[in-house]
Parts: sequence; C-alpha cells; structure tokens
Amino acid sequence: MTHGAPLVLYNSLTRSLETFEPIDPANVRVYSCGPTVYNYAHIGNLRAYVFTDTLSRVLRWKGYPLTHVINITDVGHLTSDADAGDDKMEAAAKASAKSIWDIAAHYTAAFKANLNDLNIRQPSRWSVATDHIAEMIAFGERIAPKHCYQLDSGLYFDVSTVPDYGRLAGAQDDVREGRIDTVAGKRHPQDFAIWRASPPGEQRQMEWDSPWGKGAPGWHLECSVMSEKYLGSPFDIHTGGIDHREIHHPNEIAQNQAYCDCSDTGARWWMHNNFLVERSGKMSKSSGDFRTLQKLVDAGVHPLAYRLMCLQAHYRSELEFSEENLLAALTRLKRLAITVTQLRDRPPAPSAGSALGYRERLDRAVSDDLNTAKALVALDELLADKTVSPADRLAALSDFDAVLGLGLGEMRREDLRVRPAAATLTEADIATHLAGRREARAAKDFARSDAIRDELAAARVEVMDGDPLGWDWRPTL
Ligand code: AMP
Ligand code: ZN
Repeated sequence: MTHGAPLVLYNSLTRSLETFEPIDPANVRVYSCGPTVYNYAHIGNLRAYVFTDTLSRVLRWKGYPLTHVINITDVGHLTSDADAGDDKMEAAAKASAKSIWDIAAHYTAAFKANLNDLNIRQPSRWSVATDHIAEMIAFGERIAPKHCYQLDSGLYFDVSTVPDYGRLAGAQDDVREGRIDTVAGKRHPQDFAIWRASPPGEQRQMEWDSPWGKGAPGWHLECSVMSEKYLGSPFDIHTGGIDHREIHHPNEIAQNQAYCDCSDTGARWWMHNNFLVERSGKMSKSSGDFRTLQKLVDAGVHPLAYRLMCLQAHYRSELEFSEENLLAALTRLKRLAITVTQLRDRPPAPSAGSALGYRERLDRAVSDDLNTAKALVALDELLADKTVSPADRLAALSDFDAVLGLGLGEMRREDLRVRPAAATLTEADIATHLAGRREARAAKDFARSDAIRDELAAARVEVMDGDPLGWDWRPTL
C-alpha cells in the first residue's frame, strides 16, 4: 500500500525540509552509523536507533522497498572523535583483560537485544568494520595519490583537496579547529587519519599490514567503504546522531568525494537525531555510571515506555531524560494498553463513522519530517472515537503499530508490569499482602493496614489506592 502525503524530511546538508524523492523507488537505500561495541549502549545511543527505526518504518509503510545497513564499529573509534586518544576497543580490552573479539561479541549481542526490546527492526544487513579491512585498504589506495599524505603516525586525508569541506557541519573554521586535537605534522587541523600506524615497538591486538605500514584504519573510513559496498553511490539517506554532523559525517563526505572524484556527497540526505540529555551527566559512557536500557528494566520500567518517551518528542529536538518523563510515558502506555484491551473485548458493533481520517492524519503527521508526537495524538483520538466500531478502530491501530512500533495490537496491561530486579516479593506475595490489607481496612484496623503498606513500600512496591487506571500497586524506581 502506498500512502499518499508527500514525504518531507529535513536534510542537514541543505539545512532545510525537502520532499523525499528516491533515487530508485524500487529500492530505497539507507545507511545508519552503528554502535561502537566497547561497552553497553546508553539510552541516548538507543534514541538514535528509535529514530532510524521510525524512518525505516515510515518508508516501508509508505510503500518503499528498503535496504537498510547498520554498521558495527569494532575498530578505529578513538576516545576523541578526532585523531586523538586510544582506540576505544583496545582501551576496553586492556581494562578488562579480555580479547577485543570477546568484547565486541558481548556488546554487539547486548546491543541487538536492546533493539529487540525496543521493537526496533533488524536492518537488512549488519556490517562489521573488521570484516572489511581489505576493502578499506583498497579504498585508501584509490584516494591516497590525490588526497592523502603520510606522516609517521599514519596516512592522513588533506581536506583542502575536496570541494566544500565541512559544508555539512556549517560551522566557522575557527570554531571547528578548537574542537580538533592536532596531530604533529598535519597540514590542516581538520585533516584526519585514513590509516593509523601502530606506534613503533607497540604490539596491538588489532593491527593489519597495509601499504602505509602495520596499523589500523581510521574510524571514518569504514562507513564510506561499507555504504559504497552495500548501497552503491549515490544512495538515499545516511543517519546518525547530531554529534556526527560536525566531524564524522563531513569526513565521510570528503572520502566519498575523493573516491568518486566528483562532488557527490555519497548520500543525498543526511539526517541527524538530536541528543537525549540528562543534567546529571549520566548520558556519557565515560561517566562509568551511565544509563542503560537494562537499568530501566531492572527498576521495573517496560522498555517500550522508553520508546514511547522518544516518540513523544521530535527527533530533531533535544529530549531531556528524567524519571518523571519516563514514568509519565509508562503511564501513557498503560492507558493505551488498557484501552486496546477493552476494545478487543467489546462485542462486534456497526460503525457510524470511518477510521480513514485517522489513517490520513497518521500519514500527514509522519510525512511531516516524522512527527510522531502528532501521530500519537491522532492515535489517542482514534481509540476514543465511539463513532467508529471497535473492530475498525483496531484495524486502523495496526497502521499506527506499523509506523510507531509500540505493538499495541497484541499488548495487555499485564505485559507492562516488569518485576524490578531488586524486588524481594513475588507477585503472589504482593497479592497476599494486598488481600491482607483489604481485610484490615474492612475491619477498620488502620494500624495494620498502614503496617502492610509500609512493609510493601520497603520492598519498593507502592500501594495505589483509587488509581484511575485501576492498578493496585506499582514498583517504585
Ligand atoms: P557510538 O556507539 O558512541 O558510536 O554512538 C552510537 C550512536 O548514538 C551515534 O549515532 C551517536 O551519534 C548517537 N548518540 C550518542 N550519544 C547520544 C545521545 N545522548 N542522544 C542521542 N544519540 C546519541
Ligand atoms: Zn559512521
């Protein structure tokens, strides 16, 4: 089915909203910068994939066959996005006395499990950086003569050899220079490593022979190489977090232009999600104590509440994480699940009105640069519209599920109750306590009823008297 509203998307390259025209309508090609698998993803990282998932769901729902590639970075990403510091993978291996390969396998699996918990669909292909070293070397050999120069520390790309370097970042040169740590001998501060030579006398876990000596590829190279290999050039859309707009993506564009010997930027559309931020600084992996999806689940929050929290904001707006925000999203999700359950249990009835208008509103909202917040309002109104029969409302719901990925069609409110990891009581224990408390209240033994409530509170179970959603308890964070 093709849905009618023209799809308008914000292109960071032109800093404007543009109507999406696929290069090949039979195969829309999208590349998303993937995780660096030296640690667990924090929930900010996961916002980037809720965004790419929304984009790919919208494209598919609007009738475009899609090829979507996400890479796994297991080499080359230094502790600074410029060419400074250690390789994150090498550093993690040193710190844990495990092999890089074990670390990569562990965190890749954890990342995929996170995506699964968030109903983020698998891409058509995962591509792993270290599986493409030969292609990276071949790419480097092709661009080196016209665009690169060699220093003791490796092979560097000279950004003055391509047109418009940094157009995507759109910032002043002097501002950019301040952000980039300089390597001795670089011609321009923005020049970046294509190949990093292993320091003399240092044995690294990951190093390969190359025409530029033993070493490892620079981080930016993998995305140019793998997008070209699997999607060709030009392809349609390249995504990543907004931090990539400043260094990583301008460098990919420079490499792409060098490779094609033309001014093509590789992808037509460059799209960036804004950050999830938290005042406490817990959104940085280097803070050690950062927020993972598992921590939310351990606290008793269903992962889809986090997905809903992301969908309530526009992907280009900064989103502030707070427990209140997250719990509000969980409550909204419960409300949706309860409404849907009630609709499923209703007897069949004729429809006076039509659900068509709601499908159109969904289409218009997501075609307007993926306005999921607006789509959620249309969903609320659809579910509440008594002129439309329950069956027709549920049928229209399947379109919202296809696009928003909340899985409401099959959801029951019980599914949303997650037992906190630290819970000392089983659900049956809680039910027994609550029954005891009801008896105490019926007998006007308020001291006993309060004692039971306090006992439950100590086990992080909050008794919810008179809750409008009909929950008798909830876990506290
Ligand atoms: P990394 O694993 O660090 O390479 O990051 C994976 C993805 O998460 C990249 O697209 C980043 O731009 C994105 N990202 C990093 N931090 C955040 C954040 N706080 N909010 C949203 N996206 C982020
Ligand atoms: Zn990338």
